[in-house]
Amino acid sequence: MVVVGLTGGIGSGKSTVSRMLADLGAVVIDADQLAREVVEPHEPAFARVVERFGPGVVGPDGRLDRPALGAIVFRDPKARADLEAITHPAIGVRMAEMMAAEAGTDHVVVLDVPLLVESGRTNTAGVIVVDCPEELAIERLERDRGMDADEIRRRMAAQATRQERLDKADFVIVNDGSRERLREQVEAAWAWIGTLPRTGRSPGA
Ligand code: ADP
Repeated sequence: MVVVGLTGGIGSGKSTVSRMLADLGAVVIDADQLAREVVEPHEPAFARVVERFGPGVVGPDGRLDRPALGAIVFRDPKARADLEAITHPAIGVRMAEMMAAEAGTDHVVVLDVPLLVESGRTNTAGVIVVDCPEELAIERLERDRGMDADEIRRRMAAQATRQERLDKADFVIVNDGSRERLREQVEAAWAWIGTLPRTGRSPGA
């Protein structure tokens, strides 16, 4: 297999690229999805999150109220570190299991990790960064997700800068044009992945 990282700032188009890579045949491991799975009520991390943050973070359906939890950790770095200390090891275990299942295959495994650069977890065969001017990302998120520009700016400020991400990139997809232009670049990225050395080893193993 070959393992590549995929990252990008909020609104950069990372999710769109991830879907396009899946269409081309990649096995996508979505860190956001795993982050949701590890705090499902039957998982050990759920009880630990409730113990740390109180019953106010449990919704009427008995599951975590993610917006309520997000409002706490977004404003308080210590709370965020506490949450990550609970969830990250569980996410890491899932990721390792999913990669182990692909070892020995000729699959392209894409680790779709929004905070790849922030986490320092860039020990993959290569890192693809989706880059887009911030004002364009804000415009798209306002238009498509009805998000508030100030809220988007706050989130951007909490993430790595464009330059910090670009510094870690082995392949850059510039998403400042049409979707068609984006698709062409994803196809170029796919061809580039094809040139990377295959490995049977999981990164970090
Ligand atoms: P991210 O996952 O990085 O936050 P998304 O892939 O969800 O970003 O893209 C943000 C929004 O912009 C989505 O609604 C997406 O459909 C739209 N979008 C992405 N790329 C383009 C593009 N090249 N042209 C127009 N809209 C785009």
